[in-house]
Amino acid sequence: MRKPRYTFNSETNEYERIYVTLAQRVIIVLRNIFFSIIFGGLAFLVFYMLIDKPTVQEFENENSQLLAQYKVLSSRLDRAMLVLQDIQQRDDNLYRVMLNAEPVSDEARNAGYAGTNRYDHLLGMNNAELLVETTQKLDLLEKQLYMQIKSFDEVVALDKDAEERLRHLPAIQPIANRDLKRTASGYGYRIDPVYKVRKFHKGMDFSCDKRTPVYATADGVVESAKWMSGYGYTVVIDHGYGYKTLYAHLLDKKFLVKRGQKVVRGEQIALSGNSGKSTGPHLHYEVINKGKHENPINYYFMDLDADGYDQMLQMAENHGKIYD
Ligand SMILES: [Zn+2]
Repeated sequence: MRKPRYTFNSETNEYERIYVTLAQRVIIVLRNIFFSIIFGGLAFLVFYMLIDKPTVQEFENENSQLLAQYKVLSSRLDRAMLVLQDIQQRDDNLYRVMLNAEPVSDEARNAGYAGTNRYDHLLGMNNAELLVETTQKLDLLEKQLYMQIKSFDEVVALDKDAEERLRHLPAIQPIANRDLKRTASGYGYRIDPVYKVRKFHKGMDFSCDKRTPVYATADGVVESAKWMSGYGYTVVIDHGYGYKTLYAHLLDKKFLVKRGQKVVRGEQIALSGNSGKSTGPHLHYEVINKGKHENPINYYFMDLDADGYDQMLQMAENHGKIYD
């Protein structure tokens, strides 16, 4: 029950009760409601501003920034892939060709993840296409980098092997003969100096005085240093990788190496002589590759330049005389 209100009448010196009309009452109620709403709204605003909550607009801004960054990352990945492709091309077309190795197959390089569901978890997300595409690129880049590292490991191993193999490949003349004055006759069918019939000459003859130093033409192990029928005192060196060289008609028992001894290219192994079936002092030299005799003229590449090779070829072919 509302309390009655009074006002003081100074004329009558009495308190008089005030009777509020219905209209006045309605106005009072409405005014109270109005102020409540204003106060409540203000309080809400103050609280809302005090608690720092991002707005939808802010979310949208952030989202579009992230999207832009994602696109930048995606195009940077494209560039990284291009750099890697360049490295792969050099690997296949330069290093592997130089080292006589097969290029890495496209399947091995590009083996992807087609047909798998490894990207399913991304599909439900916003911008799923961009996410899947970028993740795929990263996966491919990672895999190809791994393959490239493996390939380079192989190239390094091949290179070491090639260096080792080169040291074991006959590559110089067995006597000092840079001016080619000692070249007598070459490989192929020749008239036998003793029997006077056409016979296959399996090596190359260098005419030289007795006691001329004879050198190993590549690294290897002495297979034998002994008398051999027809060849006289002979040294055979096994170079590995299928190669052997033979040095014949050496000076009697003047071997400087013995069986099982390791030798390096350019190391003196004997002195030249005239032992065995021979018509004059000379060194007979053979190159054997996987059991087959080869023309030694193709195995002087560290000694002879192109002109020297040409000159020796002419001399060895045209010089009729062999010493056997
Ligand atoms: Zn000969």
